[in-house]
Amino acid sequence: MDAVAGAAARGQCPLPLISDLDRFVYRPGLPGLALGRLRTAEITRDLKRFRAVRAARLHVAPVTGIDPERHTVTAGGRHIPYDVLIVATGVVPDRSAVPGLQQYGHGVWDIPEALALRERLAQGARRVVVAADHTSPCVFGTYELAMMLARGAPRVTLVTTEYGPGGLIGPHARRALETLAARLGVEVHPGRRVAEVGRRGVLLDDGTAVDADLAVVSPPPAVPALAAGLGQGAARTGLVLTRASLASVRWSGLFAAGAAAAAPPPVTAHVAEQMGLLAGRNALVAAGIRRGELQDLEPSIASLLHFGRWYGLLHYLRPAGGYGPPRFRGGIGGWPLGALKDLFRRAYLAVRF
Ligand SMILES: Cc1cc2nc3c(=O)[nH]c(=O)nc-3n(C[C@H](O)[C@H](O)[C@H](O)COP(=O)(O)OP(=O)(O)OC[C@H]3O[C@@H](n4cnc5c(N)ncnc54)[C@H](O)[C@@H]3O)c2cc1C
Repeated sequence: MDAVAGAAARGQCPLPLISDLDRFVYRPGLPGLALGRLRTAEITRDLKRFRAVRAARLHVAPVTGIDPERHTVTAGGRHIPYDVLIVATGVVPDRSAVPGLQQYGHGVWDIPEALALRERLAQGARRVVVAADHTSPCVFGTYELAMMLARGAPRVTLVTTEYGPGGLIGPHARRALETLAARLGVEVHPGRRVAEVGRRGVLLDDGTAVDADLAVVSPPPAVPALAAGLGQGAARTGLVLTRASLASVRWSGLFAAGAAAAAPPPVTAHVAEQMGLLAGRNALVAAGIRRGELQDLEPSIASLLHFGRWYGLLHYLRPAGGYGPPRFRGGIGGWPLGALKDLFRRAYLAVRF
C-alpha cells in the first residue's frame, strides 16, 4: 500500500480504500488478548492513523461484489470503478465445517472470539483441546495458544492436520514445536482433524474421542463470496489465482495480496505484508504510473512465536519455501522469548502503527 499511497499523496491517482471495518486488527495479538495478557486497545488501531489511509478515500463498507469485466466493485450499495484493483480481504474460518463447533466450541479468529474465549477461561478449565486445520488462517496462532495455555493449569491436547505442528514452515520448526510440546506436557495428535465438537470434548476423524471441558478449534477457511464474480480467476477454494507478480491469471487490472491470494501456505502476517507492498508497486506499473516491469514475489518468512515464560520459536527463511529453496533458516526452541514477547508485540505495534 505504501507505494500506492505515495502516488495518491502526489496526486498521481485517486485511491479509494474499501474496508468493512474502520479498525485494523493485529491478529497475532489475539492469543494474548484471549489469555488476558493484552488489551483490545493494544491490538487494534483506527485506520485513519495510517499514513496510507490518510492519502486514500476511505469507504467503510463490505465489498459485496467484483465485476472484473466492467472494472467495478460494489460496496455499501455503490459501484466503484477501478483501473487497477488489489484484493486483500483475507479469509474467514468456516465455523460450519465442524459440527458442534458453533454450539460448544471456541475460536480465536477475531476480537469477539478472543474475548468470548477469555471469558470462558476465566471460569476455569481442567482439560483443553486445541485444534488447527493447516489451511486455517490462524494455524500458528492456534499452536501458540496451546503452548501458552499449557503453561497454566489445564492439561492441553493439540490436534493438527499437519503431519507435525510447524511442518509447513519446515522440519526445523516442526522439531522445535514437538520438543516444546513434550516439555510442556502437551499431547499432540498429528495428521488428525476434529470431526465433531460436543459438550464433553471432541471426536477426531479416526474415531478417537478426546475428553475436554473446553475446545478451541481453528477450522478451514470458508470460500469467500467475492470469488463468485471472478470465474476462472478464482480457485475452487475461492482464493484469487495469481502469477508470481500477484497479477490475476485471468483478469487485467486485478491483483491479490495476503491470505486472499491462492499462494502456497503458510501466508503469515509477515508474508501478507510483503505481498501487499509488492501488489501496490506492481499495481502502479500496471496503471502506467510507475515505469518498469512487474516484479515477482520472493517472500521471506519470519516468525516469533511465544509459548510461555521461557519457550518460544524464532525462525527466518529467505526466500520462503513456497517459491524456492531456503537459503538461510533458523529455528530456536527454548529461547527466552516468553517473558519478552508481549513487550515485543507492544513495542512493534507502537513503532509500526
Ligand atoms: C489468532 C491468530 C494468530 C496469528 N498469529 C500469527 C503470528 O504470530 N505470526 C504471523 O505471522 N501470523 C499470524 N497470524 C496470521 C496472520 O494474522 C495472517 O496471515 C494475516 O492477518 C493475513 O493478512 P491479510 O491482510 O491477508 O488478511 P486479514 O488480516 O484478515 O485482513 C483482511 C482485511 O480485509 C477486511 N475485509 C474482509 N472482507 C472484506 C470485505 N468483503 N470488504 C471489505 N473489507 C473486507 C478485513 O476486515 C481485514 O481488515 C495469526 C492469525 C490469527 C487469527
